[in-house]
Amino acid sequence: MKAELLLDAKATLGEGPVWDAKSQTLYWIDILKKRIYAGTEVIAQLDKFIGCLALHPNGTLLTALSDGEGLSSFVDLQPDSSQQSVLAAVNESANTRFNDGKCDPAGRFLAGTMAMNESDPTGALYSFNGKQVTKLFGGVTISNGLTWSPDHKTFYYIDTPTRKVQAFDYDLATGQIANPRTAIRIADTLGWPDGMTSDTDGKLWIALWGGAQVTKWNPQTGKLLEQIPVPALQTSSCIFGGKDMNELYVTSARKGMSEVDLKKYPLSGGLFKVETKVTGMPSLEFIPR
Ligand code: CA
Repeated sequence: MKAELLLDAKATLGEGPVWDAKSQTLYWIDILKKRIYAGTEVIAQLDKFIGCLALHPNGTLLTALSDGEGLSSFVDLQPDSSQQSVLAAVNESANTRFNDGKCDPAGRFLAGTMAMNESDPTGALYSFNGKQVTKLFGGVTISNGLTWSPDHKTFYYIDTPTRKVQAFDYDLATGQIANPRTAIRIADTLGWPDGMTSDTDGKLWIALWGGAQVTKWNPQTGKLLEQIPVPALQTSSCIFGGKDMNELYVTSARKGMSEVDLKKYPLSGGLFKVETKVTGMPSLEFIPR
């Protein structure tokens, strides 16, 4: 498997890929440049940091926006007009912003936060059902990749500095989590676990920040199954898409890289595609209560 460059976007912090199967469109974001892409085009330039987005059934995008000073909101965004409608606010005492998020198989939007300084454990993971925001847990440093098993009974979660994937029992009826345990430990030499998605066999695909690769893991055994090199040092997230759902789209970032590393990885910040031999789990839509 090989990573093919789709767009030399030079993203500061490319992230949050979502595949819209209806329109066969890949949405993704640059968190720090505050913009949303559809495929290779910028479709919205925002005035706030965007941590993640999800497909909204009325054709808009559900976004998690932050002002960078601790005020974060779930916002219904019309990308054509950039018209915003705040659905719920999340006030955190610390200086945090939204980071990775995704819809669960019942249509709730789960999104985490992280300290702007990337080092204080002041982040949390929230679940939003369209009416209420529920804090699932706090004490997170960099809330990152999240995904579910194909049977929806297990929730997988990454707090990047822990270099672990945690598994929880997931109650789809209530959205509650229980029984946390470590599913995967990622060796220091591989990079930092960042964005994550799952395939229909229940294997996990994890972008490794600083590792110039996406990786495939068995969460039952904790074993590394495959490594796919990406010519961008800070691979940040991945999602399956394409008409056969076998294409893995990979985002990356240039943020904080040295001149030496930028020379070695000039395509850092690019958007990539990997053709795999598996099919991925779909990007799920928000279903407001
Ligand atoms: Ca991330």
